Amino acid sequence: MVKNSNRRKYCFGSQKCIYMDTCSFDFNELNEEVLKRYPSHSDQVFSILFVDKYAQDQSFSELNSDESFKVMLDMYEQEKEITIYVATNKNLGTSNTQQRKKSSRMKIQTRFPNVIAFRIAMNHHAITNEFSYHIEKSDFDRFTARCEHEECPWRIHASLLEDKVTFEVRKLVEKHTCTRSNMGGNKHATQAWIASVVTDKLKSDGNVAVGELRKWLMKKYNVNIPYHKVFRGKEQAYSEMYGKWEDSFLQMDEFKEELQKRNPGSVVDIDSEIINEKKCFKRFFISLAACSKGFLAGCRPYISLDACHLKVCRSNDNHAEVKYKGKRWEVILDERKCSCRVWQVKGLPCVHAAAFIAFIRESWEKYVDPYFTIQKFKDAYAFEVATMPGRDQWMHLETVEMMHPPVFKRPAGRPRKNRIVPADESKKRRKCKKCGGLGHLQKTCKNPPVESSNLGETSTTKRF
Ligand SMILES: [Zn+2]
Ligand SMILES: [Zn+2]
Ligand SMILES: [Zn+2]
Repeated sequence: MVKNSNRRKYCFGSQKCIYMDTCSFDFNELNEEVLKRYPSHSDQVFSILFVDKYAQDQSFSELNSDESFKVMLDMYEQEKEITIYVATNKNLGTSNTQQRKKSSRMKIQTRFPNVIAFRIAMNHHAITNEFSYHIEKSDFDRFTARCEHEECPWRIHASLLEDKVTFEVRKLVEKHTCTRSNMGGNKHATQAWIASVVTDKLKSDGNVAVGELRKWLMKKYNVNIPYHKVFRGKEQAYSEMYGKWEDSFLQMDEFKEELQKRNPGSVVDIDSEIINEKKCFKRFFISLAACSKGFLAGCRPYISLDACHLKVCRSNDNHAEVKYKGKRWEVILDERKCSCRVWQVKGLPCVHAAAFIAFIRESWEKYVDPYFTIQKFKDAYAFEVATMPGRDQWMHLETVEMMHPPVFKRPAGRPRKNRIVPADESKKRRKCKKCGGLGHLQKTCKNPPVESSNLGETSTTKRF
């Protein structure tokens, strides 16, 4: 939604968008729009969901009436767009999240759309209940597992129904007598599981650091997972959401066309190089029209004044000669000129002009270029950056040559470990606790010990 507009955009993952007048918040209208985009699913039961951003676990709320539509709009008052999820009984991507919610209460006769959904739910069940299971039988039509602790009575048995796809839990002994804990990790917290649970978080929070995700998993599932595993899980989630990293280069040209179509006047330059007879991506440059136009409309360089010693010899109210560091400068106020030329170039009175303005007690604002006004500041940001649709809606180009990902070359030599210290950063020197000398530690000290009362004196006079 663009501010001051009554149209909002509904995005389907990164796939489909609906523009709607949201003043009416008519649920049936939205429902029809969704149906239009999923014609093959129209005979199936499907539900529209949105993330409840105030709920602690960011759970889904169902959008099924004008009232819930209004609730969602109020909740996302500030956002430019609202992501809604469509769940059908064949849509694994979103029904997983629903299935997961149920799975922590796995019961006899719980049904799963297929064996994959069942196994994902089993993993999730084990992690949320902090135990591991041992698979005794796993065929295309049945699954039997027991708790990893042999003395523990927990058992599950699930099998295929007559339709040859649906899996149903047939037997379940829910009670555990073992000590359950995820503190030492959980073998069911696989990369795929991590990917599936972090996907929603990545969708709602954007880029979350791996360390943050680790803490979040620890807090939510009480499971301790090594950093590199969370890293790979996050990578997998990104691949599932946005496609593979290598594939993203294939659409560079289409991205450029689409961006320029939506932001006329923008400059997009893609640079490639030929390595081993393959066209490889090298770099690209983007200058959005909104930025360059805004720069021209509202920006001028800025200077600030520093303390200086100036002597003003006024000839009249408009004209003066200013002495500064042994040189003479001529200032003409109404022409906004100084012979140093700084005023003409930068638009702010130079030190000489400033000295003259202060001398005659005039107002500063009068002599400052209009480029420094709030209006010009607003003008600089007045141009809009158009939003990009999902990749499947970009115009399709018959690309002549395939773009490959860039080739990374390892620089020669061992990678440096020490940070490059900036020139103005003072070096902190360590002081020895034993002798009080600088530049070494107590452990490696070869000097005789000095009593602590003398320490200050010895270190400053450097007798050792
Ligand atoms: Zn157990
Ligand atoms: Zn000047
Ligand atoms: Zn020492």
